[in-house]
Amino acid sequence: MQPLDDQQFLRALQDERRNLILVRPGCYNIQEGSFEERRLAMKDLQQGIGEKLLDWYDRNARVLPWRQVTSPYRTWVSEVMLQQTRVEAVLPYFARFIQEVPDPKALANLPEARLMKLWEGLGYYSRARNLQKAACVMTEKYGGQLPDSYEALLDLPGFGEYTAGAVASIAFGIPVPAVDGNVLRVFARILNHHGDILQGKVKKEIRTAVEHVLPAQRPGDFNQALMDLGAGVCLPGRPCCEKCPITEFCLGYSLGTAEHLPCRQTKKQRRMEEKTIIFLEHEGRFLFRRRPEEGLLAGMWEPPHLEGYLSESAVAAFLEEKGVAVREILALPDAKHIFTHIEWRMRGFLVRVSDLPQESTASKEGFQWADPAQREDLAVPSAFSRLLAQAEDACGQIRLQDLAMPYKKGSFAAISKKTLAKSGKI
Ligand code: SF4
Repeated sequence: MQPLDDQQFLRALQDERRNLILVRPGCYNIQEGSFEERRLAMKDLQQGIGEKLLDWYDRNARVLPWRQVTSPYRTWVSEVMLQQTRVEAVLPYFARFIQEVPDPKALANLPEARLMKLWEGLGYYSRARNLQKAACVMTEKYGGQLPDSYEALLDLPGFGEYTAGAVASIAFGIPVPAVDGNVLRVFARILNHHGDILQGKVKKEIRTAVEHVLPAQRPGDFNQALMDLGAGVCLPGRPCCEKCPITEFCLGYSLGTAEHLPCRQTKKQRRMEEKTIIFLEHEGRFLFRRRPEEGLLAGMWEPPHLEGYLSESAVAAFLEEKGVAVREILALPDAKHIFTHIEWRMRGFLVRVSDLPQESTASKEGFQWADPAQREDLAVPSAFSRLLAQAEDACGQIRLQDLAMPYKKGSFAAISKKTLAKSGKI
């Protein structure tokens, strides 16, 4: 009996689509076997993979808050938060969000600034905006509930095939696949598929394969089992096949190709952008401005910044030209932030100003002075959070220093409580 090569396997896959999907080279000779034999044999496999995965899931499912207490809304919010984001990072956000915004109606009525604040640090902020847009549709059209059909879900803002599939299968038991990056990787290995998983055609082939093995019973658990398998066993780079419940169905495992799969075209290099971030500070208040309503980090608050790396003296000259009375400048450690296609390399400065520039001028130009309490309410993207924390730290040290001794130009050295105590100022 001759094993199938990749081409034969994929052809077989396509030929048998109506009946079943999984065939293994060396196990079934599809050229010699009768149609009925093949159909029955492959049906065994189809049932086998579902049973094995569900059995494994029953014993190994990750314990997650949206699985412990379930509702369509919780499933939806968790799935949106988990896009491009690690589970550990999502957990505190999910808890806070659900507590404050318990259902679609509350989400539809949530002020945008508060929504952005709740999402602050999670990144990909358009997800939050779409979440709210979809909640508005649910409130207007579906009585504040998620609709219980795959097609209606797919119609909502922010719902793609993955999210609609995940919510439909997990929350409503509808047998549709939920194919994300993890599932693409797992199935590229199971099928020994060497196509580029970033291509629509390949994604479609893999989705069809998942559709064919998806059990009619417990489709949501099956999809979650695949997610968990991808997250904990069939890992990128080196899959832990020794822990895998479905090695017997995996072509990548039996052919020794799993580690080299999936294939994806080399990604385009990220565009580097250098920026000089300026934290203008006056008596603990920092200046922020609101980003435009469209595009990257839309509508969020940011410190003023300039393109390119500027030296301390260039920053001082720029600000003086703008009429800002600079009292002192401190260079902060460099920072970087990686977006999907762009990398920001940032040089930061804390600039103390002697006078508060005219509030009216500032607000006319979209700027706002914010003290620590007001900063709590501003949604500042995590791209700036490291530099902002450093600027706030430095600012606190400077203020202690001001208390302790006369102002000394150019000196930003931290001052210890011991020194302050000695000076008798505290
Ligand atoms: S056998 Fe290995 S490569 Fe195949 S699905 Fe399991 S972990 Fe992934």
